[in-house]
Amino acid sequence: MNDNFIPFNIPPYTGKEMDYIRECVDNQKICGDGEFTARDNEWIEKKTGVTKALLTTSCTHATEMAAILCDIKEGDEVIMPSYTFVSTANAFVLRGATVVFVDIRPDTMNIDENKIEAAITPKTRAIVPVHYAGVACEMDTIMDIAKRHNLVVIEDAAQGVMASYKGKALGAIGDFGNYSFHETKNYSMGEGGALLLRDETYVDDAIIIREKGTNRTLYKLGKVDKYSWIEPGSSFLPSDMNAAYLYAQLQMADEINDARMDHWNRYFEALRPLEEKGLIELPVVPEGCVHNAHMFYIKCKDLEERQGLIEYLKSNCILPASHYVPLHSSKAGLKYTRFHGEDVYTTKESNRLLRLPMYYKLRNDEIDEVVNRVKLYYKFS
Ligand SMILES: *Cc1c(COP(=O)(O)O)cnc(C)c1O
Repeated sequence: MNDNFIPFNIPPYTGKEMDYIRECVDNQKICGDGEFTARDNEWIEKKTGVTKALLTTSCTHATEMAAILCDIKEGDEVIMPSYTFVSTANAFVLRGATVVFVDIRPDTMNIDENKIEAAITPKTRAIVPVHYAGVACEMDTIMDIAKRHNLVVIEDAAQGVMASYKGKALGAIGDFGNYSFHETKNYSMGEGGALLLRDETYVDDAIIIREKGTNRTLYKLGKVDKYSWIEPGSSFLPSDMNAAYLYAQLQMADEINDARMDHWNRYFEALRPLEEKGLIELPVVPEGCVHNAHMFYIKCKDLEERQGLIEYLKSNCILPASHYVPLHSSKAGLKYTRFHGEDVYTTKESNRLLRLPMYYKLRNDEIDEVVNRVKLYYKFS
């Protein structure tokens, strides 16, 4: 690897991670629901105001827990955007439900809130908004639709930690919120996530389902004499060693967020002249949304121009990334899902989108190098 190589992502690291992991190992407490898991849960609860946060083995598993908790079953329908990660859909398909996609908005790449209502049928049970790039979906409209049609809202806030909508933390607005702490996310534990429960309704069941369907947690608190099998569940709780890695970062969440926002703003300002000349488009953050600089993307004219830019950056030691192949056009998508209405923007916008390197320790000179290469590609001076 060349010294000047600029990777797409470097997992966040603050320096305290190994100390905390060692603390777990020295204390011989490495299984789930140890001290660091409790600290992480509490951090999320304080930060977001939810009644209960439960650290999980992934955001994928948090979504599966939500699907179990609201008893999604065969014949049910769940509405979401097609422009998302496979896990958003898998959680419901695994329970036999049909996933119904609606188009996205071209400005934020989020589900078009105005197209949801037409996709609702008597079989619809849930809406799953995905807050792409940590920029919130239009949650007031979505919550209003859910209320009028008696649907649950499960926020895929995998990319939304530390972001908000009209002052409310992402993940804390719907009935359920799902966070990801995968190594590609702003805060990481390698593999991991969290399930956020806005109010009391699902808390007891969630605790049982996460612990293999047992009341082991109540037993540990001395509330029952013996622990036993209460309902179907699985093992959704991560090792406390992973939780320890995460805690180092949650303690420094503001510093990490500020650094990422600085990177994002530097990209934005430097690339603005190209947007003004009509060469590229830059991300849009609607009023009322505070984002978290999860990613910085630009939009090229079309697929061909984007592929050319990807090749050009790669040949200059910069690693960009494209993003989701819309799920409705994938092999599994053809089998388990349907697209309601017309795909005006989902495929077209995803083909144009290009993600630039973005991580906590990204340096200003690296950002400037990426920007210069983009300018050279567009022959901008
Ligand atoms: C990363 C991501 C997930 C999956 O998260 P894991 O923790 O890896 O399971 C789900 N949805 C979205 C939108 C994501 O970005």
